[in-house]
Amino acid sequence: MSFTIGCHLSASKGFLDMAQTAASIGANTFQFFTRNPRGGQAKPVDPADVEAFQKFSKDNGINVILAHAPYTLNFCAARPEIRAFARETLADDIKRMEMVPGNMYNFHPGSHVQQGPEIAIDFIAETLNAVLTPELTTTVLLETMAGKGSEVGRTFEELRAIIDKVNLSDKLGVCLDTCHVNDAGYDIVNALDDVLEEFDKVIGIDRLKAVHLNDSKNPFGSHKDRHETIGNGYIGADAIKRIINHPTLRDLPFFLETPNEVPGYAQEIALLKSWRVE
Ligand code: FE
Ligand code: FE
Ligand code: ZN
Repeated sequence: MSFTIGCHLSASKGFLDMAQTAASIGANTFQFFTRNPRGGQAKPVDPADVEAFQKFSKDNGINVILAHAPYTLNFCAARPEIRAFARETLADDIKRMEMVPGNMYNFHPGSHVQQGPEIAIDFIAETLNAVLTPELTTTVLLETMAGKGSEVGRTFEELRAIIDKVNLSDKLGVCLDTCHVNDAGYDIVNALDDVLEEFDKVIGIDRLKAVHLNDSKNPFGSHKDRHETIGNGYIGADAIKRIINHPTLRDLPFFLETPNEVPGYAQEIALLKSWRVE
């Protein structure tokens, strides 16, 4: 398999524009927010844009893409109206993603805010059970979290507990964020093999569908979640080289969410390609 690498792009001009931008910077996939990351109304999906996007992607080798939910949604908030808003947004996003079938949609499980993770896990699973349907072609990914505040998903066990409570769990996968797991206390710098073994033991490696490739501004176990550009943080170039070449990870799609504009992403993609051992 070839290296599948992309970055987070602005969705303001639609799917074709994102695919063209990706191709222009040497990427063969991309991630985007389904709507303003702070929530709010989504622009309707334009079928003509989807058609042009699909043709362009086929001609230019753009692979499976990743949508990201607004990060302000809280699926496990104590207030029912906040949970209801998150659920409605998720349902609407998934419906929109079905217009570009066969892709992936990633979300942050949420923050339990003093309720404790057990109740939160029940709320998150409840939402997924309400929204997932058997005919869905979109794979829905839970993101590994840094454990900032009361974030759920800071351990592999919490993600596994959510998956176990979802009826249509074959629709679910996990997106591993390298900044988040390092901040959460999984030592991907010194013990990558052990972390992946742990992931396999707790969640099952087949669930791992994507990697958010980020360096971290903060040290191991800091629970902060501040992304750094590749090679310039506490994860560092050597660990990132091992991550993109690791036999368990190398065939997954990698998405940069580093603090960059498009030209910076182009440079990082070129750098990562030079580090990739084919
Ligand atoms: Fe995220
Ligand atoms: Fe991420
Ligand atoms: Zn993050």
